[in-house]
Amino acid sequence: MLDQYDTVIIGAGPSGLMTAIESYQPNRNILILEKKYKPGLKLRISGKGRCNITNDANFQKFISHFGKNGRFLKYAFSEFFNTDLLEYFNNLGVHFKLERGGRYFPINDDANEIVNALLNKIDSLGIKIETNSEVKEIKKNEKYFTLKINNSGFKNNDSNKQFAIKTKNVVIATGGKSYPSTGSDGNGYKLANRLGHKITKILPALVPIETKGKIAQKLQELTLKNVSVEVRCENKKIDEEFGEMIFTDFGVSGPIILSLSKTIVKLLTKNKNVNLIIDLKPALDHPTVDIRLLREIEQNSKKIFKSLLKALLPSSLISVFIELLNIPQDKQLSQINSEERKRLRMLLKEFTFEVKDFKMFNKAIITSGGISTNEIDEQTMESKIVKNLFFVGEIIDIDADTGGYNLQAAFSTGWIAGQYLKNNY
Ligand SMILES: Cc1cc2nc3c(=O)[nH]c(=O)nc-3n(C[C@H](O)[C@H](O)[C@H](O)COP(=O)(O)OP(=O)(O)OC[C@H]3O[C@@H](n4cnc5c(N)ncnc54)[C@H](O)[C@@H]3O)c2cc1C
Repeated sequence: MLDQYDTVIIGAGPSGLMTAIESYQPNRNILILEKKYKPGLKLRISGKGRCNITNDANFQKFISHFGKNGRFLKYAFSEFFNTDLLEYFNNLGVHFKLERGGRYFPINDDANEIVNALLNKIDSLGIKIETNSEVKEIKKNEKYFTLKINNSGFKNNDSNKQFAIKTKNVVIATGGKSYPSTGSDGNGYKLANRLGHKITKILPALVPIETKGKIAQKLQELTLKNVSVEVRCENKKIDEEFGEMIFTDFGVSGPIILSLSKTIVKLLTKNKNVNLIIDLKPALDHPTVDIRLLREIEQNSKKIFKSLLKALLPSSLISVFIELLNIPQDKQLSQINSEERKRLRMLLKEFTFEVKDFKMFNKAIITSGGISTNEIDEQTMESKIVKNLFFVGEIIDIDADTGGYNLQAAFSTGWIAGQYLKNNY
């Protein structure tokens, strides 16, 4: 006889853990299967280990961060939104602080607090989590699902044994394809596909960008705040963000680059040439920058060119500017001609990087694409194709900008599925 459950949740990330807690009913047999050695690995590293759990944006603005598929989340967010999530965790003993950009973090800056609060709750309800247990196959007959599990710890200590269990409901909470070391390697898409679900195009999103040439490398670790970055393709502005970015050993990253990466990845997959144009003085238009340069030059005519750059730029940019402008650093300012002044203005306003590529899934914060939202009931998270099958979290074709939106979606979809299951055993 196979072990039999009311609900089996595949994946112990935020969406799966929330579904488990909310689907709880005494005398119902709920099991969470997690392929990694520990639950919530991605949640523990989220927000650089601090977990940006949600955002204080209002309903409309929040939804808009998900792009066109945001409408799928309207019902879930109308039932369980940002303030509900914060209160939920307050009741589990975790308290939050609000930071720049409307981002909420646990007061103690520790993502483990979030995971532990969920695990304590699960433990107190007596819900079982089996780690080292990877679901390899899901089959359905009229009455129940049979799950084949590759196991290196469940039931006995023999590694790589296969077991099968039976369950009435299955919740696929296996996440996307990004950061596969945390367990989400895209295998959930295959499980769903074999059950008849359509998977929309899977691409890395919120991903760092590789640039051509050596300039980014030379500027490695330099953070630029309050800059504006434009995505330009075939001389047209496609997208733009204002805020903070960082140079890396391969190119560029940081909040505004991650936000722009979805646009960049889409263009690159269509084989387009893409440029990133950094405006180092976004508050000043070209004529105003020119007036300022002229004034600096006139007022300091005896000083050298390098001293002008010092007044305008972070120190690590100075030598790169001197190289790119090809103006000797010790040239007296009185000798700077209008053509050189124009070159400097253009570099300040349009510091340009040609995009080489995007980093793949192992560096992506999130996956764009997934189970088509047309095939899921947005009020229950149940599949419209297979009865008693549910999808929650990042496996669904929803993805948002950075700012806590993605975790809110994982928790809200988990909450919705949990409520439905609890009331429909
Ligand atoms: C570095 C990083 C930082 C991030 N920071 C933030 C942030 O601050 N704020 C924010 O909103 N979002 C953030 N995100 C995104 C957010 O973490 C994810 O969107 C969220 O974790 C998705 O939750 P999930 O439950 O759908 O999937 P996951 O958290 O990916 O969990 C899925 C689980 O399923 C398990 N699993 C997969 N396949 C199987 C299988 N066949 N059998 C059994 N188990 C399986 C995996 O091991 C994993 O534990 C970040 C992501 C990364 C990579």
